[in-house]
Amino acid sequence: MNSPPQIRIRTLPAWLVNKIAAGEVIERPAACVKELIENGLDAGATDIQVTVKEGGKKLIRVVDNGHGILPADLPLVFKSHSTSKLTEEKDLYDINTFGFRGEALASMASVAQVRLISKTAAQSDGYAISVDNDKITSPQPVAGVNGTTIEIANLFYRTPARRKFLKSDGVELSHITETVTRFAIAYPEISFKLANLTDNLSDKDAPASARQPLINLASVKDDSSQGILQRLEFFYSPAVSSELLWATEEKDNLKLSAYFSVPTQTRPNSKQQFFYLNRRFIRDRVLSRAIYQAYHNLIPSGRYPFVALFIRMPTSAFDVNVHPTKIEVRFRDAWRVHDRIVSLIRGALAQKVLSEPAAMPELSPNQPETPENQRVMQALVDFFANQGNAAQFSPSAQRPGHFTSHYSDGASAPANTGAPAAALAPAPGDLHPNIHRPTGRIFQIHNSYIIEEVADGILMIDQHALHERILYNRFSQQLASSEIYRQKFLIPTVVEIPKSKSMILPEVIPYLKKVGIEAEEFGENTLAIQSAPSLLNNVNFNEFILEFIDAFADLPAETPVQAGDLPAGSQINETNIKPIDKLIKMMACKAAIKAGQPLTPEEIKSLLADAGETDFVTCPHGRPAVRKITLSELEGYFQR
Ligand code: ADP
Ligand code: MG
Repeated sequence: MNSPPQIRIRTLPAWLVNKIAAGEVIERPAACVKELIENGLDAGATDIQVTVKEGGKKLIRVVDNGHGILPADLPLVFKSHSTSKLTEEKDLYDINTFGFRGEALASMASVAQVRLISKTAAQSDGYAISVDNDKITSPQPVAGVNGTTIEIANLFYRTPARRKFLKSDGVELSHITETVTRFAIAYPEISFKLANLTDNLSDKDAPASARQPLINLASVKDDSSQGILQRLEFFYSPAVSSELLWATEEKDNLKLSAYFSVPTQTRPNSKQQFFYLNRRFIRDRVLSRAIYQAYHNLIPSGRYPFVALFIRMPTSAFDVNVHPTKIEVRFRDAWRVHDRIVSLIRGALAQKVLSEPAAMPELSPNQPETPENQRVMQALVDFFANQGNAAQFSPSAQRPGHFTSHYSDGASAPANTGAPAAALAPAPGDLHPNIHRPTGRIFQIHNSYIIEEVADGILMIDQHALHERILYNRFSQQLASSEIYRQKFLIPTVVEIPKSKSMILPEVIPYLKKVGIEAEEFGENTLAIQSAPSLLNNVNFNEFILEFIDAFADLPAETPVQAGDLPAGSQINETNIKPIDKLIKMMACKAAIKAGQPLTPEEIKSLLADAGETDFVTCPHGRPAVRKITLSELEGYFQR
């Protein structure tokens, strides 16, 4: 018998190590932009200019006016683990710079063609060095001004597989804009510019957004609250920025400052929540949870406030060396930070709402009979009543595991029935098409579920999931037959698009058209909607379009549908159905009756009548929509 070949261990060559590291650090062009801006800030720059071509795939150039690099050090910049920011081990526990791993430039040099020019104040000339295909040139003198310029050309040119995962130029550019935005908010004293070079486009063909810098921000004197506010006003519509609240507090080595929206201003997702730790943009579940807790009961569930939160604490209170791009950190005491955030923001909201009842939210318009104002007032009164007693807002009683939603798990059987849970899960064959309705009584409970008596038992129906499924099926059918029932607006609905998303509009518009929404760019950052499917009658278009754009930008890259592939009337096929399908699921979800919405008997009847023609066992996202309990199950349970 042949013995298998002996497996050997080898040390990987440096170029391969760099490539692996690059996979973690350089995920897309925006990641290069982030690393390069960080290097500029670490070098004390006060002006940072970013220029990109083709969504950064062709070129990313970052020019800073920082302290520059000595010519003697230039040969080291593309070597991995080469840094000026750490010298001894104890430095690792006191990191006050963005960089310290010495990996970013080495990573970029292993996946792109890179050229760097730098000049320190002490030198009369600048020096240039470049790397291509792992070959580094020796530094050459060039004319230059103080500071550093880095150009990253043809990202992933040697790894077509990775290049394929990049999205369209517009989507990549929107990620880059988002990246610059994050820095600009936290560094008002630094001037930032972002320009998109569209050399190959004539002025006429270039989208409006390409004719001028996307971002052009002069420095503001300092990083005070006023400076930050000016930046927020630049990036966000007056509807958001004009009503922001500001609160700040410093004690026990922890300083918190935040801009946050009044409860009447909410967003459908949490993309406009910015958390900074010592001016580094981070993501953190405990911080998100604190914001949720601070607004709890003040805003409808599923809505999110705008927040820009700045945390300052000594470096000994957290560890940044836990994530390759440092977007996550580990707090020594995350819950202390959590509780302080909750009380700061909740306290400020309470004051605002008590002094100005108009600032109170009109919670879901679908719940007209709920005395929301009373509920909000009660929540605030409770807050004040419990202020001495941190337990109310301290999640200590609910820590681990409490990120789950509060929906009860409808599929599990009551413990004492002994019935296996599977018996109660939706059983497709059971429900359709053999339901003869109306057979018995039908009513709504908890404004969310419908109970229906049927010949052999009862149906329990999740009104939102069912309606979503009906709309989804109807919509897909209309789409497949290219017969979308549209409604033309007498006056177009105007939707304002955030700056970081305006560059995707030319790509999004054909998709909107495909799903029956006729829209066109209307001035800067604005979309005018002329007509929309009648199924979307009750939808808030402002939100709907913003979510549609987010969903579009999040479509997986491996389904490359270019806008031009989908002229009106084109056939839906395997390649283009997937992204569209995702979008229509989102549309169905938006247009569907919500949980918590009271329905009249007529509305219930018409919902069930619509369901009659639908395979409605699950919602399009796969959650159960209907659960049946048969008479024999009831009899078994009651031991008849
Ligand atoms: P890190 O930032 O983790 O040290 P990088 O690979 O990003 O690693 O950069 C390597 C080194 O090159 C830095 O430590 C710094 O000394 C130098 N450097 C890079 N970019 C700049 C810049 N824009 N200005 C001055 N020095 C820079
Ligand atoms: Mg760096």
